[in-house]
Amino acid sequence: MLKLPIYLDNNATTPMDPRVLEAIRQVPRHAFVPAWQEPYAYDDRPLSIGHGQTISQPWIVARMIELLFERRTSGQGLGRVLEIGTGCGYQAAVLACVARTVISIERLRPLFDSARDKLAPLRLTNLRLVHGDGRVGHAPNAPYDAIVSAAGGDEIPDAWLQQLAVGGRLVAPLQDGASQWLVTVDREESGWSRQRHGAVRFVPLRSGIA
Ligand code: SAH
Repeated sequence: MLKLPIYLDNNATTPMDPRVLEAIRQVPRHAFVPAWQEPYAYDDRPLSIGHGQTISQPWIVARMIELLFERRTSGQGLGRVLEIGTGCGYQAAVLACVARTVISIERLRPLFDSARDKLAPLRLTNLRLVHGDGRVGHAPNAPYDAIVSAAGGDEIPDAWLQQLAVGGRLVAPLQDGASQWLVTVDREESGWSRQRHGAVRFVPLRSGIA
């Protein structure tokens, strides 16, 4: 049943960063999906994880992490990373393979609980899960070298911009009318600069916890 590596076939224009591919290879995606989705775990597509949420398509997980690496100098890891939208915990596990520390926030208690259970056997000591509203970021561990959101709103919350380190990069889906785009925001001493990448489809960024 284990079909590794996942074949990442989605419109990549350049070869993927080998550090990202290695992290994708290390994390068993079948361990993060509901049992009835296991036969599809190594297909390059999103899958339902219940509660109206999805596990992201592997290619998009890889692409977002690659965009974070682009901003680091060679030989540097990702440093301290904040993830908004733990979901089943898959991307958090991939991030933990390439970052010094990962804080991942989920607003839905049942998903938070199940991500904790699914991640436990991997013993990722540099990963911390938080049950909370990620729109306010996570101030106690700020600033972050990288912030990545798996849910898209129609604006980038101010807390994320404030909690991003100078020299850091944020990657998130952003709603613009009927379309959603992957955007990066880089923070410099002088301020923030935004860049738009491809069109994407992520679940909505919601407020409050449940
Ligand atoms: N990272 C996951 C993708 C999960 S889908 C993966 O590896 O596949 C996005 C998740 O974001 C959902 O679980 C949803 O509940 C969560 N979410 C939406 N708004 C949020 C918010 N304000 N704070 C934290 N999590 C949020």
